Amino acid sequence: ALEVRLASRPNGWPTRENFDLVEAPVPEPGDGQILVRNKVMSVDPAMRGRMNNAKSYVPPFEIDKPLSGGAVGEVVVSNSRHFSAGQTVLHQLGWREYATVGESHAVAVAEENAPLGAYLGVLGMPGLTAYVGLFDIASFQQGDTVFVSGAAGAVGSVVGQLAKLHGATRVIGSAGSPEKVRSLTEDLGFDAAFNYKDAPVAEQLKTAAPDGIDVYFDNVGGDHLEAAIGSLNEFGRIAACGAVSQYNATEPQPGPRNMFQFVTKRLSMRGFIVIDHADRRDRFFSDVGPLVRDGKLRYEETTVEGLRNAPDAFLGMLRGENTGKMLVTV
Ligand code: NDP
Repeated sequence: ALEVRLASRPNGWPTRENFDLVEAPVPEPGDGQILVRNKVMSVDPAMRGRMNNAKSYVPPFEIDKPLSGGAVGEVVVSNSRHFSAGQTVLHQLGWREYATVGESHAVAVAEENAPLGAYLGVLGMPGLTAYVGLFDIASFQQGDTVFVSGAAGAVGSVVGQLAKLHGATRVIGSAGSPEKVRSLTEDLGFDAAFNYKDAPVAEQLKTAAPDGIDVYFDNVGGDHLEAAIGSLNEFGRIAACGAVSQYNATEPQPGPRNMFQFVTKRLSMRGFIVIDHADRRDRFFSDVGPLVRDGKLRYEETTVEGLRNAPDAFLGMLRGENTGKMLVTV
């Protein structure tokens, strides 16, 4: 069975050479384990951090071991009384055709409720990240003006739509292509959007939000963050979710030059990691599930076919080749 391993650690932008495609025996599930045939898997920006040998909130990937990430598949053998063959489960051992998963590390998902990919995107980890970041971390209130970067991606597209659906006065998004920018306003209901590659972010944000912003949901870091600080109104809040513009940097990146505005405008900024907020999952499902089902919250997916192409899907995602959630069919 095919699996994708980490061949070497990248320095700067990763390349195909950092990945190995290996045929390995189909593993045998032990007691309390299930054997899952993966069907679809997620590639995530956070995986870039785990390719480095650095201490973080999750351990680094190991050289010559398979990579991992969210996946949905079918149980083919069950040595657990909680699962039976034929069931569909969500788990964290993607990047391989077959995974042996401990019964406490898998959850059953209902294929009839939503397409499988949705459990990795809008109804999965990225959706929960958007929900927690907007409501719990940034304390979004009806009437706020919200700016979100990475707005056409898995997390950002949910942030902007949730804000709009919950009574934001104005929602602004930034993204990296004219097609993405168009789809934000035409398909997803954003009030304004701009391409951060066209002109300095600070200028474009001032034009898009002439009365300033109350919330910045940061997926990108760098000049986006500095621009947002400049546009935030008094008592504005930043949810620090990610800094994808810096994940391939080889040197520490300079911080915003306008930090004193935190004092003068009484701003706050709080970082968060979604795995600490699993207790919000039920509420998230009951709030967001119906919005998705009724078509009020839209989502896109970019699907790359075949596990062999998973490294390209990951590299493409870092370059912005995805609209919405980047998925790989196994
Ligand atoms: P996306 O679906 O948004 O995919 C990544 C996107 O990043 C690309 O599509 C690309 O879009 C954009 N990008 C790449 N380089 C740059 C750059 N230099 N400047 C601006 N944008 C860039 O990924 P996710 O929605 O999964 O993740 C979004 C962010 O949220 C990431 O920072 C991720 O690490 C973070 N995250 C954090 C979590 C947490 O618990 N804190 C959990 C999940 C995600 P474009 O074409 O617009 O450039």
